[in-house]
Amino acid sequence: MSIVYRYGRNLYINMTNRCPCSCIFCIRDSTPRLGDADSLWLKEEPSVDEIMSELHYKCDLGVHEIVFCGYGEPTNRMDTLLEVASRIRSGLKKKVRLDTNGLGNLLNGRDIVPDLARVLDSISISLNAPDAESYKEITRCEFDAETAYNSLMGFIKECREKMDDVTVSIVGGYLSPAQEKRCASIAEELGVEFRIR
Ligand code: SF4
Repeated sequence: MSIVYRYGRNLYINMTNRCPCSCIFCIRDSTPRLGDADSLWLKEEPSVDEIMSELHYKCDLGVHEIVFCGYGEPTNRMDTLLEVASRIRSGLKKKVRLDTNGLGNLLNGRDIVPDLARVLDSISISLNAPDAESYKEITRCEFDAETAYNSLMGFIKECREKMDDVTVSIVGGYLSPAQEKRCASIAEELGVEFRIR
């Protein structure tokens, strides 16, 4: 069970397997491994101290940034995320990024962006689709289509207002060229970076 794993020049924190989505492209369905992780399926969710202990053990001068990612949605554990991110910035002096499905406001029942903006250097948000209907088809999320997509859009807009480095992404090969183009236009209108991953 890997809490922190290395992939390329970054360290990734895997602190929960809980996720409100079941994306049709999710690698959780095909492999337990990524980077140097043995298995990303957690027996139990790690504490702040357990995460920091692994980070201290694995972090070296070659690490570019530390990313909250993993085999679940990190904003399911906001208190832990905020504490670990603060300690990384103050102690390890590394840049901190969050990779998220952007549904954290729904998951927490409150606006989490101001808290995130205090501790993150950058955020990468899964846009996944250009409209609510195709979003639901791709993510198979537990929320209804309009609720999820509207919350995602609001989350992206607020991140753009409060953070400097915001990217939205889609996964290549699951949308038509026309849909991909619409996603790129949405990113441009919102004033955020766009990436096909
Ligand atoms: S949001 Fe991420 S972890 Fe959750 S199902 Fe989709 S790809 Fe997998």
